[in-house]
Amino acid sequence: MSPSDAASEPVAPTGLEGVDYLGWLPEEWSAWARSVGEPAYRGRQIFEWLHRHLAAEPAAMSSLPESLRAHLTAAGVGWPWRLSVESKSDDGTRKLLLEPHNGDPKARIETVLLPEQLVNFEDDPYTGGLRKESDAVSQCISSQVGCAMGCVFCASGALGLTRHLSAGEIVAQTSLGRVQLEAPQHLRRLVYMGMGEPLHNYEQTARSIRVLTHPWGFALGARRITISTSGLVPKIDALAQDFEGHVHLAVSLHAADNETRTKILPINQRYPLEDLYACLKRYPLRRRRWITIEYTLIEGINDGLADARALARWLRGLCVKVNLIPLNPVDHVPLKAPSPARVHAFQRQLMDAGYSVYVRKQRGDDIDAACGQLAMRAAPARPARPAATARRLALL
Ligand code: SAH
Ligand code: SF4
Repeated sequence: MSPSDAASEPVAPTGLEGVDYLGWLPEEWSAWARSVGEPAYRGRQIFEWLHRHLAAEPAAMSSLPESLRAHLTAAGVGWPWRLSVESKSDDGTRKLLLEPHNGDPKARIETVLLPEQLVNFEDDPYTGGLRKESDAVSQCISSQVGCAMGCVFCASGALGLTRHLSAGEIVAQTSLGRVQLEAPQHLRRLVYMGMGEPLHNYEQTARSIRVLTHPWGFALGARRITISTSGLVPKIDALAQDFEGHVHLAVSLHAADNETRTKILPINQRYPLEDLYACLKRYPLRRRRWITIEYTLIEGINDGLADARALARWLRGLCVKVNLIPLNPVDHVPLKAPSPARVHAFQRQLMDAGYSVYVRKQRGDDIDAACGQLAMRAAPARPARPAATARRLALL
């Protein structure tokens, strides 16, 4: 599938065997409870056990009658993942490799826990940009295995799309993440910035948000959820409509002229900058909120002062904060991050134009837990596509 087809592509199979129980809402559990001869209120209890008390299997649901637990066990209810390997970085970042219960190495995914005391607090209106001590943890989660969008600098893009994750598979990453936390740590933010384009898997992404924010479960505030997208305009509109601007939006821009952007993000052919701007302008921002603009800096491609000025012009009229991400090196991709001096000059230029601009620190790069690095070593189900990437790189 080419990236230009991606947004209209019907939802591909998730690859999940059986029913996606972890993606069910309480009303669906109530209907199921009735179907096995139990009262509807059991639906709420099951949902609470799974998402509030983090019961990994029915045996742990001690307030439920034995017969109901037996029904749940027979149906195969439980977390779709188990922790396979954990790597811990010197800076406290932890990368979890998750595998399905059948151990299929091709179906593994990765998720990352990032203690927040090391994070720029760009998303917090009260501390904007400051660092503070905190027990809060952010988790970076995956929405697909691989990605269809084919951005030239991204490890997931080089893999191509293997499959969508189901809502339950997305949610269960956070369940496993939460049980891994060490007291008094707590999970405070969730960023859909791991493997995949969450808005290409819109239905499952939206359902996962509904489950995660449900007051009977984890009850995470929607504003603590960041959906990062390469710019699938109709799906940004759908997100805006379905969640009324409560979900935090991050847009991967990376260039403010169509020619450069199309070369590095093929999706720009389908939704060029003019369409993206109009879409961001109509995103229903809540009071004191903003859109995060992500801009990966690549030496010689999009990191000049003229690029910074073009970006400042393009952003005019939008309520945004800018995150600059010096490129993380990706195997077989001959692109480099600019020098720190060039990054700083780019940042200065934008700040002088009146924008809040943060340079994202590389986190966990000693364990390949940095942005865009979650794919290559996660046992790709099919080989990477060096030829396709090379063709696009030749255009740069
Ligand atoms: N598909 C979504 C979310 C996952 S990628 C998106 O593109 O927004 C999360 C972020 O990591 C995006 O901003 C992406 O552009 C960035 N990224 C990917 N590969 C990178 C790399 N090698 N170096 C720096 N940033 C990268
Ligand atoms: Fe997909 Fe995002 Fe990587 Fe682009 S940057 S290939 S959209 S995961």
